[in-house]
Amino acid sequence: MPATPAWPPKSLPRLFVRAALGAGVPVELDSAQSNYLGNVMRLKQGDRVLLFDGSAGEWLAEVAEAGRKRMTLSVVEPTRPQESVPDLWLAFAPIKKSRVDWLVEKAVELGVARLLPVVTQRTVVDRLNLDRMRAHIVEAAEQCGRTALAAIDEPVKLDSFLRARDPARTLYFADETGGAPAAGAFSRGASIILVGPEGGFTRQEGDSIRQAANARAISLGPRILRAETAALAAVAAWMAAVGDWQ
Ligand code: SAM
Repeated sequence: MPATPAWPPKSLPRLFVRAALGAGVPVELDSAQSNYLGNVMRLKQGDRVLLFDGSAGEWLAEVAEAGRKRMTLSVVEPTRPQESVPDLWLAFAPIKKSRVDWLVEKAVELGVARLLPVVTQRTVVDRLNLDRMRAHIVEAAEQCGRTALAAIDEPVKLDSFLRARDPARTLYFADETGGAPAAGAFSRGASIILVGPEGGFTRQEGDSIRQAANARAISLGPRILRAETAALAAVAAWMAAVGDWQ
């Protein structure tokens, strides 16, 4: 007995749009999206696409008009409800461009709700292109089937971050100098994981983080991980322990 093909087919192109989605709603795509569907994916009138707007779940849409430069879709029906996003934020010291792009992409795939760039004393990268990072967030969400977009904040200095943070949100501090083994360190509830720069946190920074309210130092094992590896290892451990991998 042939298996019932998945509906909607996983192979359908999937796009994030800034239009409020609903049955029968026309959605005019921007030139990049029109070019992608029209010239790269070679979609024609009547072909199907999956859409999400970040808050109303995923919808099936059909190509209504396929102009040379512009394409208009017509929304047909809902295909998946809005995802419930695990309450996990990731605070990270900015690292080099290619690696921060990779970090953002993977953090979105793993289900992180919010990204917070935190500038520390040993942070070598002083500028972050947030627009480029938002584009990476959209692309990663389109590819991994998310219906919500992770938020990304303006970079802040570590001391402002520690002053402004809500102590009700548990701060898990990835500390290569030692901490509770990550495997058993996490408890359910609003959480934020903090990872340092390539050069690590200074001793004074480490002390101020450890003294922060509701902060827990966690160890990710005996090896010194690259910052982006440490960030994803900690996020994966959290998702497995108290996130939505259960
Ligand atoms: N300062 C370190 C050194 O050069 O010896 C390296 C810092 S490491 C490349 C970057 C960040 O990843 C650290 O600040 C920490 O947050 C995290 N990290 C790396 N390995 C870790 C481990 N085994 N346990 C916990 N956190 C780790």
